[in-house]
Amino acid sequence: MRAVRLSQIGKPLEEAEVDLPEIDASDVLIRVAAAGICHSDAHYRAGISKIDRLPLTLGHEVAGRVEEVGSDVTHLSTGDRVCVHYLVHCGSCEFCVRGLEQFCRSGEMIGKRRDGGYAEFIKVPGANAFALPDEIPFEVGAIMMCSSATALHALKKARFKAGESIAIFGFGGLGFSALQLARAFDCEDVYVVEINPAKLASAASMGAIAIDARSADPVKQIKEATAGTGVDVALELIGSAKTMRQAVLCLTPLGRAALVGLTAESMSIHPYIELINKEAEIIGVSDHLAAELPALIEFARSGELRFPPETLRVVDLDAAQINAALDALQNSIDHVRTVIVPSI
Ligand SMILES: [Zn+2]
Ligand SMILES: [Zn+2]
Repeated sequence: MRAVRLSQIGKPLEEAEVDLPEIDASDVLIRVAAAGICHSDAHYRAGISKIDRLPLTLGHEVAGRVEEVGSDVTHLSTGDRVCVHYLVHCGSCEFCVRGLEQFCRSGEMIGKRRDGGYAEFIKVPGANAFALPDEIPFEVGAIMMCSSATALHALKKARFKAGESIAIFGFGGLGFSALQLARAFDCEDVYVVEINPAKLASAASMGAIAIDARSADPVKQIKEATAGTGVDVALELIGSAKTMRQAVLCLTPLGRAALVGLTAESMSIHPYIELINKEAEIIGVSDHLAAELPALIEFARSGELRFPPETLRVVDLDAAQINAALDALQNSIDHVRTVIVPSI
């Protein structure tokens, strides 16, 4: 089969002819219908995030049709539409048995530790393949399994509930999903903090209150807009100590700040006045859980989570096109996601 693989860190991906994966009893073989090109893939190619083995087929955002089913897999049949949970886990370690598979002792991320979806076919454990309803296009089924799933996990970790207000710091892929999911949760006001005018306009057009961090301190703006109280939940999706601190400072008493963005910086907090006094919480968020995916799929099926056609760009399973998309991702400033749709 054809695959587009990373052979050398810092070099373009290359086309390769590789063997069709052989499945075990617990696996399914999927004919890839869509594979999202993610910012993380650009990081793997550049060597910013470490890859353990080369050559490797990238691609952790995958949807397609089941081609072959292992004898132990009972919930799927040949021809079924599916989307893929990217974390392969053992199912039996102390974390897996508690449903916390993102901490699995032997977890392997698809497209990072195992071959991913930049190929005609992919082998995954049956437990990682979720039925994809007909209403959800394959392209959406692929990309929602990364940033949308993590946005949902962040809302869950923050215990976000109907009637609460929320501030979203950063309106990239995560923020785009987080805004829609917050509204699906029946939230009160949503504030989106950004410095990019196009993103601010896009957030406003989707019903958010746009907070332009260039014009004044976003904490001050949110406090003013909430009659001095602040928001119930803040999501930090940028990965900067400055915005993490702002996320904490804009909370109302009992508010929760969920930190999702990655940074190596330290952040300072005055425990008494900024945390203890308000009984505020700072919560770390990493990846997402298989158990959350059925709810995510239902939000997409019902249309509460949408990726309109103008937010998607399609390329073929072609190394030149994929490398160009990875190049563009480095300085992407819009919501357009590129998805590989292999031509037959
Ligand atoms: Zn991704
Ligand atoms: Zn495990």
